Amino acid sequence: MDPINKLTEYFKEFPGIGERQAKRFVYFLLHKNPSYVKELGDKILDLKNTIHQCPSCFLFFQSQQDQLCDVCSNPKTDKTSLLIVEKDADYENIKRSKNYNGMYFILGGLVPIVTKETPSYVRTKELIHNIETQAKKEALKEVIIALSLNPQGEHTDMYLREILSPSEKKYNFNIVSLGRGLSTGTELEYSDSETIKNALRNRS
Ligand SMILES: [Zn+2]
Repeated sequence: MDPINKLTEYFKEFPGIGERQAKRFVYFLLHKNPSYVKELGDKILDLKNTIHQCPSCFLFFQSQQDQLCDVCSNPKTDKTSLLIVEKDADYENIKRSKNYNGMYFILGGLVPIVTKETPSYVRTKELIHNIETQAKKEALKEVIIALSLNPQGEHTDMYLREILSPSEKKYNFNIVSLGRGLSTGTELEYSDSETIKNALRNRS
């Protein structure tokens, strides 16, 4: 395969990028001067060298490997509450709204409705481990499932309630959802502070 098609294949793996767009990226790079392309390459490598995931909530942030993030390491964080979000952008948005002071967990994706298998990027095992660790260590009182209100989000909500049910009984915490405080089709990533505040207030 020639370099144009080879690079096109790489861009096609990006979320929402098809063959035509991928090829446009390649030609865009061909028109740029070599220093731009070199810097872009360096920036991508930098990303992998300087950004790591918090081992507790799985947030990507600038850190050493295995370093806890600001929220997980802060003694002022409310350790009795854990909020589950789909992705980093949802986490950022809820944190920015300043309406929640507890712990977070980033699931990594939603559970598809059609396939029986849970994809590996959805961190269900890690979630159970995290919850059990928190429940043993601190008095975990509440797990808030905060997923966007669309069919896949609702399916994932139900799925999480099912797999967390044994831990819920064993450690005596409540599982609640933000879903009922949001209107249909709400994407958490794009919700304003007021919507998030109301959704948190109306969790059930
Ligand atoms: Zn963390």
